[in-house]
Amino acid sequence: MIRVTEFEQDKQICMHYEDDRDRFHGAVVPPIFQNTIFTYPTFGELVDAVQSEKHHYVYGRGTNPTVEIVEKKLAALERGEECKTFSSGMAAISAAIMNSIQSGDHIICVSNLYFSTMELLKYLGKFNISHSVVYSTNTEEISQAIQSNTKVIFLESPTDMTYRLVDLAAVSKLAKANGIRTIIDNTWATPLFQKPLKFGIDIVVHSASKYLGGHSDVLGGALITSKKIMNTLFNKEYLLMGAALPPSEASLLLRGLRTLPLRMVNHQENAVKVAEYLETHPKVAKVHFPALESHPDYELGQKQLAGYSGLMSLELAIANYRQVEKVINKMKAFKIGVSWGSFESLVLSPNISSNEGQLLKEHISPGTIRLAVGLEDVNVLIRDLEQSLND
Ligand SMILES: *Cc1c(COP(=O)(O)O)cnc(C)c1O
Repeated sequence: MIRVTEFEQDKQICMHYEDDRDRFHGAVVPPIFQNTIFTYPTFGELVDAVQSEKHHYVYGRGTNPTVEIVEKKLAALERGEECKTFSSGMAAISAAIMNSIQSGDHIICVSNLYFSTMELLKYLGKFNISHSVVYSTNTEEISQAIQSNTKVIFLESPTDMTYRLVDLAAVSKLAKANGIRTIIDNTWATPLFQKPLKFGIDIVVHSASKYLGGHSDVLGGALITSKKIMNTLFNKEYLLMGAALPPSEASLLLRGLRTLPLRMVNHQENAVKVAEYLETHPKVAKVHFPALESHPDYELGQKQLAGYSGLMSLELAIANYRQVEKVINKMKAFKIGVSWGSFESLVLSPNISSNEGQLLKEHISPGTIRLAVGLEDVNVLIRDLEQSLND
């Protein structure tokens, strides 16, 4: 008997699911509905549609047929009930948090979150929302941060820069027992390599600007959750904050999704080879990548992740800003720039946004260099690292 694996199902979803070719004259790629308004034959029918806008095409800020196809694919990939897409990952993260809190509430997060997510939590102080950063991914330490007004635990797993993993099943259980909602940023793993809803997480958010799009030409975000949560979120945070994904971008995202499985397998292959090479280099003190057996969360990763993407970091043995700058400036195959998750290899350092004191507080070495391993031939990448690290 041939076993249908999750990855096989996911490939089918990425390429064909909900493409609705019968509805679009057999078009192999769905059309871009580049219209903002949908008209109705009678006023009564429009009134009915407006009353359940989530399920009808009324106005582009709410729903659009092209956008809806991406949303159905992403919900299916995460094994979630519903998805809404956004004009950026930050818009999706903002909507998830806003939906889950009110003035006076408290949020717990793990350290080494995506930079702008951390800034958002600080900004929310303006509305009397407080937060605690747990400088660990340990469930017990997360548990100790719970207060009577804690309403959200915000996770990123793996975390940024050190790629530590949170035990999603354990934290979901802890949160449920305390009436707390869990939100996870699943951008690193993509739905192919981690399905957090299956571990009991309440809301999954993505920056679609990374692997989901995969070509550095589309900015977008996604939020996948239960029908129950989405019912309130659609009418409030989605429609009122007004950060819908434009249909042209949805079409680019559909194109990206078709090759997502291919690309992720290739990113993983390249990244594992790069990480193994770096681990043997005398100028490298440490490599942070959960596929390595030396990583502190290797065992948990084997249970929780179905694969490993291409984002990792290394610590230089000489750990200071000047040395980081020197090595980065020698790189040629790795381009110097922010962001990641696309075909091209990129290099960055957390020194871009934090000073040494802040980095040390977050258990990040000032000698840290972040690598986004792309789809180039891996020998080109390894040779580039070799010549950059050697004097
Ligand atoms: C890029 C990124 C975001 C923000 O996404 P945008 O699409 O740039 O708004 C959020 N989380 C992670 C982990 C990211 O890498």
